[in-house]
Amino acid sequence: MKNTKKPQNINKFYIVVMKFRGYNIRTMITKKIAKEELLDFYQSKFDYYKVVSAYCAVIIAFSEISYFFTDCQLYGRFSWETLIPRLSVLLPLALFLLLYRKVKSYKAGVLLYYLIPHAAMWATIWSVYHLENRDFVREGFIIMHFAFLTIGLAMPVMYHTIIHGFIFFNILVSNLFNHYEHLDMMLTLAIPIYIGVILLQIILENTYADHYLIKKSLELNSITDELTGVYNRFKINEIVDPETHKFYTDESIYIAMLDIDYFKKVNDNYGHEAGDIILKYVGSRLETHVQNQDYVIRWGGEEFVLLLVDCDASRVAKVTEEIRQDISSGENSVCPLTISIGYSKYKADENYHSCLDRADKALYYAKKHGRNQVVDYTNI
Ligand code: GH3
Ligand code: MG
Ligand code: MG
Repeated sequence: MKNTKKPQNINKFYIVVMKFRGYNIRTMITKKIAKEELLDFYQSKFDYYKVVSAYCAVIIAFSEISYFFTDCQLYGRFSWETLIPRLSVLLPLALFLLLYRKVKSYKAGVLLYYLIPHAAMWATIWSVYHLENRDFVREGFIIMHFAFLTIGLAMPVMYHTIIHGFIFFNILVSNLFNHYEHLDMMLTLAIPIYIGVILLQIILENTYADHYLIKKSLELNSITDELTGVYNRFKINEIVDPETHKFYTDESIYIAMLDIDYFKKVNDNYGHEAGDIILKYVGSRLETHVQNQDYVIRWGGEEFVLLLVDCDASRVAKVTEEIRQDISSGENSVCPLTISIGYSKYKADENYHSCLDRADKALYYAKKHGRNQVVDYTNI
């Protein structure tokens, strides 16, 4: 089947050591997901979890503000000093709410979503600057790990590991002006939680990888013809607009319709199973004649449709004639075989059914005029 990238899965559970290969950072689940599928995998993970992470971002921001009441308890009065620091988190939250619908790719998502836990962390650091005992921030820092965990649900583990790691940078830099009494204890508390969160993220990413692979395989099965292994007619729904039935692509397309000649006789003379062997044979031969951007579809029974993309009049004539000759001269294990083909050029902005209809008329013409031939609709 052309135009399908089947994932080459290695069905093993892997937690591999992080690898930094130049700028090509790979993750810990790459052994489950083929390399060329990674972008799609992370996009799918982002799309699946982004709503959860977005709700969590809002919860993180409002939790941060709610700690103003803890500040008041510590002061035993209205803690006006920490009011602005605590409320400062509203600014990045507003930016987040403004942009989050616009952010479609996971890479932009990484930049936007992690803004919130980092902003919350700095709001905490700014607030404790005004407190007498700044080491109260210890609890705040621990809570931040869970804020990062919830945002990381939608992100690649490797990105998460790095961005979450900036917690240590935040602690060390804020120590320059907050001068924590127990910096060492803050770090020893943070390290195991950080490692625990990363391990949990790895497990979650692996679990999502299983979900992703099952989803992909179901998607592939739903558009694949079981007998021949080429696409079935549902594939076309992916490449046309569902409402107008126009092809999404602007490239020049030809539709060719193929029908095996006197196929009933094959079934009658050699049996249904032999007929199936012929159908498989024709499907596999068709695939050898088309290019990567083309589609081979079993339209139904012993009829196939070819969508030749980025194709001109000379290529469609050449490919269809080569197919006809290949089938009529080729050796299959059952009996001599011929096919008839009709084709037509897809006109920009038309419903694909109109083009298919013309190809079908050309095919009908080929059948009526002796079979075993290729007919261009413009010649009838
Ligand atoms: P023509 O040259 O006019 O096309 O003649 P034909 O005998 O091929 O006629 P038609 O296209 O109507 O025949 C379709 C036959 O294809 C009828 C049906 O038994 C057979 N068929 C459809 N699906 C399958 C299948 O999955 N397996 C097998 N073995 N036969 C099938
Ligand atoms: Mg037929
Ligand atoms: Mg037929």
